[in-house]
Amino acid sequence: MTSYQFAVFGNPIEQSKSPQIHSRFAQQFNIAMDYRKILSTAELFENDLQEFFTSKGGNGCNVTAPFKEQAYNKCEILTPTAQKARAVNTVYLDEKKRLCGHNSDGAGLVNDLLNNQQVTLAGSNILILGAGGATRGILEPVIAQQPASIILANRTVEKAEQLSREFSDLYKIHTTSTENPQYPATPDLLINATSASLTANLPVSDRNLVGPATVCYDLAYKQEPTAFLNWAADCGAAKTIDGKGMLAEQAAISFEIWTRHRPATSDVITWLGNN
Ligand code: NDP
Repeated sequence: MTSYQFAVFGNPIEQSKSPQIHSRFAQQFNIAMDYRKILSTAELFENDLQEFFTSKGGNGCNVTAPFKEQAYNKCEILTPTAQKARAVNTVYLDEKKRLCGHNSDGAGLVNDLLNNQQVTLAGSNILILGAGGATRGILEPVIAQQPASIILANRTVEKAEQLSREFSDLYKIHTTSTENPQYPATPDLLINATSASLTANLPVSDRNLVGPATVCYDLAYKQEPTAFLNWAADCGAAKTIDGKGMLAEQAAISFEIWTRHRPATSDVITWLGNN
């Protein structure tokens, strides 16, 4: 039986749960595979990526922090989503053996919201905190759902303004600062796409941001609720959700690109909740 060779590149990489996630997906289809964690460096990454496909028999790989932009630069062919995100988290070869890059993070978030959490994006007012790589990756799929409004709030407001300009061909994104925020109303959906949760910090403190109908989503995930989700629950949010579902859904999209099999994610999401 053919055995697929998959990997995830990152630094650090020890914490990655991708091998266990993909192994659970492979079991659903009786697919034999090996999925390795590869620790790389900024100097070696592009060479490591190329070698994985040309001399290590790689069939597909994920790329996580801090190499998503380098993967974007290295891939010869980019999907429109990866082009807009300017970051790649899924790499594969096309029939001409060219390195192809896609970004499944945003669709992973949208699939989690729509299919697992029953949160509608169409017609909703969305406030996104943060203007880093994750925000860049989620904007196009979120915009495609046709929300009523999107406001980007960032500590460094110039970065939010820059992203707003880059996506102005798709949507009119309003911007504000998380330090001195100006919001027209409490949002239907408040997304924390900052990295503040990784250091147990809060990206905002204005409790008026969270109304009784506000769904709060943190892209970050831990075993216990993040500082942002604890704060949101304390403010009376309608629902609090962390990024484990997004992690599972973006992985499912990668797996389908590599194998043409679309895995179910519910078992993996349950497993991530316990591990
Ligand atoms: P970046 O480093 O690219 O961007 C970080 C952003 O957070 C910047 O906008 C920065 O603001 C802001 N920020 C950092 N600390 C604070 C703080 N204390 N207060 C307010 N704002 C702050 O990170 P990424 O965009 O790559 O990642 C963001 C988050 O998304 C991480 O938690 C990451 O784990 C998560 N993620 C989850 C995924 C999933 O599958 N669930 C997938 C991808 C990412 P400034 O510009 O002012 O510095």
